[in-house]
Amino acid sequence: MTKKILITGGAGFIGSALVRHIIETTDHYVMNVDNLTYAGNLDSLTSVENNPKYYFEKIDICDQNNINKIFNKYNPDIIFHLAAESHVDRSISAPNKFIQTNIIGTYNLLEEARSFWSNLKNNKKDSFRFIHISTDEVYGDLGNTNELFTEESPYAPSSPYSASKASSDHLARAWHRTFNLPVLITNCSNNYGPYQFPEKLIPLVILNAINGKKIPVYGDGHQIRDWLYVGDHVKALLKIALEAKSGQSYNIGGRNELKNIDVINTICSILNELKPPNHLPINKYEELITHVDDRIGHDLRYAIDFTKLENDLGWKPNENFGTGIKKTIQWYLNNLEWCKIVVKNNQ
Ligand code: NAD
Repeated sequence: MTKKILITGGAGFIGSALVRHIIETTDHYVMNVDNLTYAGNLDSLTSVENNPKYYFEKIDICDQNNINKIFNKYNPDIIFHLAAESHVDRSISAPNKFIQTNIIGTYNLLEEARSFWSNLKNNKKDSFRFIHISTDEVYGDLGNTNELFTEESPYAPSSPYSASKASSDHLARAWHRTFNLPVLITNCSNNYGPYQFPEKLIPLVILNAINGKKIPVYGDGHQIRDWLYVGDHVKALLKIALEAKSGQSYNIGGRNELKNIDVINTICSILNELKPPNHLPINKYEELITHVDDRIGHDLRYAIDFTKLENDLGWKPNENFGTGIKKTIQWYLNNLEWCKIVVKNNQ
């Protein structure tokens, strides 16, 4: 059955991948609600902007009146809530926006969704879903252990970013438990892929390298993250929205645990082949790697166990890091104009 899907943060990295995936591969309608912060770019949505099933509204999720109007105007069947401040370094230098958007904004959406949902009837009410998209960073630091995060792992966030996301997860869970709102929570590991804003590790390394700039590595670069290709993430999100029971939470990951320094070396070595640095006074891109002071409070290791999602819904990622990173690097090399535009728009 065709659904009306409201996506917050649909002009961001993961949100735009979700919008494109739904519009390009299904019959569902998409209402994208995004206030276009530095991380939101309509240039990531040019392939769908003229599609009659796609709508865009420039609205701040902290603005309760306008969120109320959006619910009444579009009558959504499913909400994917991705709008957030998402960069850890920015949360350390300026936490206020993280508290506003990630906590107050989520509260507004939950309240407006609750009021809208409570007036729905029968099947519409039963099948309504609010998917709250969160991160594995809410679980804190695994340190030097071999453990994995499961859905039962205790919350122990380290940064203002992860603490604000943890707060929003607690609100989402409480709105299910107290008000029965059909909420699902997803906690995903580090995403990578096309259209990621160039301040995040992978696009930053690619662009610094080909421009002959230093490639900064925090501390010794031994921090471990589990990497998931964004296309696999958005497939998991749609599957969860359409097939999972309300009230559940799901971890999503790629089973691709890598040290940051190994990610950086892999990118350099692929770039040496795809775009040899003949235009620069170096022999290989690895020469640009420079160690800088570690981020304060930097977690050493995150790792996800997504067995529950595999067993309940049969999801697993299609890409491994080797295949996904090649596609990603090639995309950035082919889309330098997009990179220039989004960086220029934010200067
Ligand atoms: P992003 O920073 O690329 O995009 C965030 C989007 O939200 C932008 O389009 C921005 O304009 C919009 N936005 C911000 N504040 C808003 C507000 N007040 N009102 C309306 N729109 C607003 O983020 P992303 O990497 O695409 O992440 C999306 C979600 O997924 C976030 O909730 C994040 O916590 C979560 N997540 C991200 C990752 C990752 O690796 N990127 C991993 C796990 C979970």
